[in-house]
Amino acid sequence: MNLHEYQGKEILNSFGVRIQRGIVAKSAQDAVVAAKQLTSETGTSWYVVKAQVHAGGRGKGGGVKLAKNLQEVEKISGEIIGMDLVTPQTSAEGKRVHQVLVAEDVYYPGESETEEFYVSVLLNRSTGRNMIMYSTEGGMDIETVAEETPHLIFTEEIDPAVGILPFQARRVAFNLGLSGNAFKEMTKFVTNLYTAYVQSDSSLFEINPVLKTSDNKILAVDAKVTIDDNALYRHKNYLDLRDIREESAIEVEAGKLGLNYVDLDGNVGCMVNGAGLAMATMDLIKQAGGEPANFLDVGGTADAARVEAAFKIILKDPNVKAILINIFGGIVRCDRVAQGVIDAYKNMGNINVPIIVRLQGTNADVAKELIDNSGLDVMSATQFQEAADKVQEVLA
Ligand code: GDP
Ligand code: MN
Repeated sequence: MNLHEYQGKEILNSFGVRIQRGIVAKSAQDAVVAAKQLTSETGTSWYVVKAQVHAGGRGKGGGVKLAKNLQEVEKISGEIIGMDLVTPQTSAEGKRVHQVLVAEDVYYPGESETEEFYVSVLLNRSTGRNMIMYSTEGGMDIETVAEETPHLIFTEEIDPAVGILPFQARRVAFNLGLSGNAFKEMTKFVTNLYTAYVQSDSSLFEINPVLKTSDNKILAVDAKVTIDDNALYRHKNYLDLRDIREESAIEVEAGKLGLNYVDLDGNVGCMVNGAGLAMATMDLIKQAGGEPANFLDVGGTADAARVEAAFKIILKDPNVKAILINIFGGIVRCDRVAQGVIDAYKNMGNINVPIIVRLQGTNADVAKELIDNSGLDVMSATQFQEAADKVQEVLA
C-alpha cells in the first residue's frame, strides 16, 4: 500500500524522525487556514504548496510551489487542486490532485546555505536484508545519479538480529560529509528512520530530499512510504490511510471480487488458477508473440461464478484482443471448470473476442468434449504449446 507524502511524514514523525511540518488541505480556503495555523505553530512566513498524489517528480511537473504570502497560498492551491498533474512518473493524462500539503518553507534564507541528501530504506532481495541507501546527491534527479555516477550512492546493510548499530549511523553521517551538530542530527535521523521502517512493516521508505537546514537541522522534506500489504493486519490504524482514488479502478474492483488481478499493457487477457501457472502463462503468451493484458489468478475454486467475475474484469480492458484460460484441474475438476466457462459465456452474452481454453488435470478429456460440443466460439486445447499456437493464430 502506497501512502501520500503527508501520511508518510506523520508516520515518520511518530517515530521521532524530524520532518518539514505541514497541514493537508482539500480547498484553497482550507489551504489558507492551514497556512495561518502553520505560522502560529512554527513562525514560518513562507510556505510550499505540494500536490498530494501517488507519484514522484511532482516538482518537475509543477506540483510543488513556493508561496511567499497567504494570497499566493490561496492562488497556488487553487491552481493545483483539481489539476491533472503530469510528472515523469505518471501517464500522459496525469493524476487528478484532490488535496495539497501546505508546508513550512525550510530552505529559508537561501538555497546556498542548505544541502539536499537522498536517504532510503529498502529490502536488498539478494542478501535478504534491509539496507539504507543514501547519497550526497539528493534532490530531484536521483535516477540520473544512479545511472551516471553510481559511485555517489552508498549502501549500509543492517543485520536483522541486532538492528542498526551506532557505528553504522555514524558512517552514514560521515559519508554524507557532515560534521558538528548536523552529524549528530543525521545519526539520530537514520536510526529513527530505520526503526520506523521496521516497526511500521514498510517495504520502502524513500526520503528525497533529506535537508540540512541553514541552522544544521536534519529533516525529511519528502516521504515516499510503502507499507507491506501482508503486514497490514498488524496495523489496523493504517487501513484508513488507503486512498483508492490513487489505485487502478479495475484492480480495486477485482480485489472486491476476491480475484488476484494486476493490470498490464498487453492484448491477451489471462485467466489462470494459481500464481505460478499464471506467471508461466504470461511467458507462454509472450513466446507466442502476444503481450499479457493482465495477471489474473482466479484461485482454487474456478466455478462458474468466479469465471464470470473474471471475464467481466478482463473485458473491462479495451486492449484485450483474445483471452487465454489456462486451468489446472487438481482439486477442482476440469469438467466443472469447462461447464463454468460455458455458463459464464452464455450469461455474459456479449463476449466478442476469441477465447482459448486449456484445461489439464482431472477429467481434462471430458472438459475438452464439453467445450468442443458447446457450439460457442471457444477453442480448446490440452497441451501448453497447442494453446500458445492458437493464441498466435487468433492474433495473426
Ligand atoms: P517530488 O518532486 O515529487 O519529489 O517532491 P519533493 O517533495 O521532493 O519536492 C520537490 C522539490 O521542491 C524539492 O527537491 C525541493 O527542491 C523543493 N522544495 C520542497 N520543499 C521546499 C521548501 O520548503 N522550500 C523551497 N524553497 N523549496 C522546497
Ligand atoms: Mn522528492
